[in-house]
Amino acid sequence: MTNNYDLHSHSTASDGTFSPSELVRHAVAQKVSFLALTDHDNTSGLNEALSAASDYDLSLIPGIEISVTWSKQTVHILGLCIDSSNKILQTGLLNLMEYRDWRATEIARRLDKAGISGAFEGANKYRSGRIFSRTHFARFLVETGQAKSIRDVFKHFLVPNKPGHVPGKWATLEDCLSWIKLAGGIAVIAHPVRYGFTATRLRKLLSEFKELGGSAIEVVSGSHSKDDIRYMAELAEQYDFYASCGSDFHSPDNQYINLGNIPVLPDKCKVIWTHPDWHV
Ligand code: AMP
Ligand code: MN
Ligand code: MN
Ligand code: MN
Repeated sequence: MTNNYDLHSHSTASDGTFSPSELVRHAVAQKVSFLALTDHDNTSGLNEALSAASDYDLSLIPGIEISVTWSKQTVHILGLCIDSSNKILQTGLLNLMEYRDWRATEIARRLDKAGISGAFEGANKYRSGRIFSRTHFARFLVETGQAKSIRDVFKHFLVPNKPGHVPGKWATLEDCLSWIKLAGGIAVIAHPVRYGFTATRLRKLLSEFKELGGSAIEVVSGSHSKDDIRYMAELAEQYDFYASCGSDFHSPDNQYINLGNIPVLPDKCKVIWTHPDWHV
């Protein structure tokens, strides 16, 4: 069975390599009918994506992937069906973007101390949108032969106890959920398995997220195995969360899985497109 919903993807507005319109065309070629563009901490790709989607039989769901610091760790929360013109949401995002600017100079300073010079300018060449991502630094490190692959970068650089690591200071879970709700969106925990939390810690996150008004979790993600999907479907049922599915597509050569190539949600899931705030 094919899945024509892909509710997690990136463009050049954050750390993807396709422009919003190229992403839309790729989604159409991949037989996706419902695509959410969920760039990190900014919504500047949405207008182009919406306008490109209007030329095709594709519904573009305006989304965002917000970086959150929860219990000293970074967690990603998606907002789907958001009204990106909401001022409170945009003020919150502006703070995150400014933090990213500062962090980029700090990453470069720390890489320089470790003997890798020119990282700021090098990473900046890969950036075409507003935000600075570790992915841009990763591409620079691969290009200059200092790492074998993007995956290799996230093992040997930019992570705790490695050169170029800067601990994240992102939004609180509470603020993030209030921004998404004020913007009329549905809050979804992105790729819950990828954090590597213990079962107890994951349950704590799910409970707090639920208490703060969170609605859904990504049961199917490009980075989830079949077992992960079964486990997440079980948790979604226990916590009465809606279930979402998305590839987390970034580019054809740096991806967990291609756009639209994700498994369908298990039968028992309450699918997110039946949520009362879902609209396309
Ligand atoms: P940032 O939000 O700037 O800290 O960067 C996080 C981004 O780095 C994620 O959204 C992914 O796109 C990328 N990333 C993190 N870990 C990995 C990994 N192991 N392999 C490939 N990309 C990764
Ligand atoms: Mn990313
Ligand atoms: Mn993420
Ligand atoms: Mn993502």
